[in-house]
Amino acid sequence: MQINPAELPAGGERFHGTLSVDFEGVSGATEVRAPCPVSFDIRAERAGGRVLVSGSVAADLQVDCVRCLALFPYAVEREFEVSYLRAGSDKGGDEAELDENDLDLDYYGDEGIDLQQLLGEQLLLSLPMKPLCQTACEGLCSQCGINLNNEACDCKPEVDPRLASLGAIRDQL
Ligand SMILES: [Zn+2]
Ligand SMILES: [Zn+2]
Repeated sequence: MQINPAELPAGGERFHGTLSVDFEGVSGATEVRAPCPVSFDIRAERAGGRVLVSGSVAADLQVDCVRCLALFPYAVEREFEVSYLRAGSDKGGDEAELDENDLDLDYYGDEGIDLQQLLGEQLLLSLPMKPLCQTACEGLCSQCGINLNNEACDCKPEVDPRLASLGAIRDQL
């Protein structure tokens, strides 16, 4: 779904509903399984030489835990405001105006503003760098690979051979 800035009415336009966002096309989305329904309620309006898109986005993302690799639901809700400039437009004389607004700035091309891309990026910004299914996630056993959150195993902790020999020396002292 695209927003075509040239077709926006003078007072702006509201877009809302649910979109299926495929995170495979969104950079940095390695932990998110795609696609996923995303609900949004946003406004797009032209302001000077730019297009302002603001509103809210929400989704229950399916995220891989970085420790145990299990898939878990991660509810994200985010308010955002992004300012768009036409790609290739002269932005040199615009810097004073840029400074007064603390907005994310992005660019759009001939095809307009891609809503899937925008919403996907905004959701990813809400994800922690290292998502965990629970703060106390036990992770996987490094030897047998079972999920230690669900099962226990009898594996002994791996000891680095160099440390083991140090331990032997220490035992003799
Ligand atoms: Zn986990
Ligand atoms: Zn084990």
